[in-house]
Amino acid sequence: MASVAISPAVTLDSATLNPQALEKFTPRLLAWFVEHGRHDLPWQTLDDPYKVWVSEIMLQQTQVKTVLAYFEPFMQRFPTVFSLAAADWDEVAPYWAGLGYYARARNLHKAAGQVVLQYGNAETLTIEWPLTLDKWLTLSGIGPSTAGAILALGLHQFGVIMDGNVKRVLCRVFGIWGDTQKPVINRLLWSLAEQLTPQQAQTGATAAYTQAIMDLGATLCTPKKVLCMYCPMQDICTSFNTGHVYDLPQKFAKKPNPTRAGWVIIIQNSKGEWLWQQRPPSGLWGGLWTVPITEEAPLINQLLKQFPQTQVSPKQAQLLYHGFTHFNWELQPIIIELKPRRVLPKIVRDLLTEFGKQTGQIKNNSEHSLAPKQPIQWLTPTAASSIGIPKAMQQLIKQQTAHLPEH
Ligand code: SF4
Repeated sequence: MASVAISPAVTLDSATLNPQALEKFTPRLLAWFVEHGRHDLPWQTLDDPYKVWVSEIMLQQTQVKTVLAYFEPFMQRFPTVFSLAAADWDEVAPYWAGLGYYARARNLHKAAGQVVLQYGNAETLTIEWPLTLDKWLTLSGIGPSTAGAILALGLHQFGVIMDGNVKRVLCRVFGIWGDTQKPVINRLLWSLAEQLTPQQAQTGATAAYTQAIMDLGATLCTPKKVLCMYCPMQDICTSFNTGHVYDLPQKFAKKPNPTRAGWVIIIQNSKGEWLWQQRPPSGLWGGLWTVPITEEAPLINQLLKQFPQTQVSPKQAQLLYHGFTHFNWELQPIIIELKPRRVLPKIVRDLLTEFGKQTGQIKNNSEHSLAPKQPIQWLTPTAASSIGIPKAMQQLIKQQTAHLPEH
């Protein structure tokens, strides 16, 4: 086992982790879970690995209370892995819109197809679910922690999880200092988690432990306002006993994300519909619909020259902000009103081709034809709210509809 810096002056390896905590942690956690754990989450159903899988993907980077609003509608529309695999991405996207991190949904959709193909029986509509970590790891979007959770919670197999809650609890109880992103700390945490997770999967102990450690991290051992007074680990918790609860896990300043400026262009026809375009399948907001967005200032200058009536009023000038994992977008809304005509003006087509060169067809085009290469459609802001659009577009609609001219 690798050595880990436990404080600036002391070094620790797993052999020197608090032996009392190693011995008492799991039984205490299981006993606490019986009375205080969460037992009523909609994905906590016996023998439904699909529900556990969907919930685990939704829960990545997202809190339970947010996921609760998305999980049931998703399950009603796609109750089985077969129904999800058979759906088009355009049918799936609206059920994820607003949850963010859309690559998760695209991978889930893709992996549903892989599961049906590799493990499904089309006649009986049953799945012979994979029972090993290695097999789960071959599916799109499944990492070791998600696979561990599905094995433990959905399939009653031995599986180990390592999400943010688990890292926080283990770092605090065992007094682990250092950057949890660093391989040396990460390896220590995985090894510790493996040691603490009960092997008796068939009795339900692995599943109970898995849910319990997430619950402890989500309800008592939280990032802020930690409720140590109710915690069963107090006397064995290193951070509590040394007064370092809020210092662990250690935080390391990340380089701030750069901010990029651009424009969101609302192109409105005489019916009050906006022109929407589907983003390419991979990349930012992949597969979702947005109004045209560009960072090209010369294109905007041309646009404003050709549509001199396009005024950006102070209210319309409200900027739209969106933070991605690697940069922040600061977008200036611009509104162009098109008169009825047979073709879209060239400058608008130039804007639309900014998105990429994929092929597609215009949908329900009303008064403007000659579609550019990528899928576009005219939709009222209200209608657009029910297709797969990112949260930033929902904000744009909310922000702008109150100020647009009546039709
Ligand atoms: S005693 Fe406090 S810091 Fe330690 S595990 Fe419990 S809640 Fe977390």
